[in-house]
Amino acid sequence: MLDIQKIRADFPILSQKVNGKPLVYFDNGATSQKPQVVIDAIAKYYQEINANIHRGVHTLSQLATDAYEISRGKVKNHINAKYAHEVLFTSGTTFGINLVANGFASILKPGDEVIVSSLEHHSNIVPWQMLCEKTGATLKVIPMDENGELIIAEYDKLLSPKTKIVTVNHISNALGIINPIKYIIDKAHEVGSAVLIDGAQAVPHLKPDVQALDCDFYAFSGHKMCGPTGTGILYGKEVWLNKLPPYQGGGEMIKEVTFEKTTYADLPHKFEAGTPHIAGGIVLGTAIDYMNEIGFENIQKQELELLEYATKRLSEIDDIRIYGTSENKTSVISFNIDGIHPYDIGTIIDKLGIAVRTGHHCAQPIMNFFCIPGTIRASFSFYNTKEEIDALVEAVKKAQMMLS
Ligand SMILES: *Cc1c(COP(=O)(O)O)cnc(C)c1O
Repeated sequence: MLDIQKIRADFPILSQKVNGKPLVYFDNGATSQKPQVVIDAIAKYYQEINANIHRGVHTLSQLATDAYEISRGKVKNHINAKYAHEVLFTSGTTFGINLVANGFASILKPGDEVIVSSLEHHSNIVPWQMLCEKTGATLKVIPMDENGELIIAEYDKLLSPKTKIVTVNHISNALGIINPIKYIIDKAHEVGSAVLIDGAQAVPHLKPDVQALDCDFYAFSGHKMCGPTGTGILYGKEVWLNKLPPYQGGGEMIKEVTFEKTTYADLPHKFEAGTPHIAGGIVLGTAIDYMNEIGFENIQKQELELLEYATKRLSEIDDIRIYGTSENKTSVISFNIDGIHPYDIGTIIDKLGIAVRTGHHCAQPIMNFFCIPGTIRASFSFYNTKEEIDALVEAVKKAQMMLS
């Protein structure tokens, strides 16, 4: 069992008061809080080894380069990539998806098809719409049902030799549904399509094994898994990364530049133009170490307990509706109270120190499916407690009384 109080002591922000009340942070789906080791590692980088990487022969530059590449190696091991050069540092999930979508502009022809799901975050919809506009390809959408699950039989029907890339999230940010991505990946490969997995909501809860999944791309953000903002990873299979053109041109990504012809650097540098977020990349490794020390089995056990407890306690509230009732869920509860706008509840409970997300959660098509403007989303992390869930339930009841 995890010693939650000991873990909470690692996160200085959790002992803060907000609006005079102890902070209850249930907006982990938007970004996670950071442990002291991560905060310290950022300061340590700037205090001790700050220098540009891959360029200087001087000592600090070498120290910074080594630390950056050690971190890349940690990510490689964490996601079980075959090679470290298949691990690209990015600024986040959004950047990684755009990198791939941009690259596919050189592959797609009019009449080709891109498949997304109806459970996607806007950042896994819009880049593909832009790609389709540019290339004349068509966007197809896997539909969902009332439980928030993808209708897989419909996915099977959408697949054809015209399918060039299938792109779905591992876990839905709006509802917490875990998608059957292994099936989705294998089926796509049967028709020769590539597959990108948006792992932004998965990596805080589990350790993805990209070789076992056999996905072609896997994108995620550092800031949702205890790491700094502005950091992220795009995993790509070597053959795909060699096939795709560079995303941005600039320093670091070249072999040789003349005005007649420029040749590109080898992987991973071909996709890492310019000075990156060096401190962030290094400290993402620190965050991954921290999470592995706690252990993903322990994290899942604690989060599942919180999910079950919160589902039971919230269900006591009159006129509540929970969206996403699938069995395959992570610790996210999206709900509404009949007749009350989610924003009004969010505003009142914020006064009581409780941080939840209200709105469409960057997933408007899901809200349209349920014909609602948005939901209240409570997303739990391993450092949350049942007492905090009790506080949420009391606060929502109080808001309901005030507003009805
Ligand atoms: C947060 C999130 C994104 C976008 O991540 P950024 O860090 O904002 O780039 C994409 N997809 C899902 C499922 C997310 O939860």
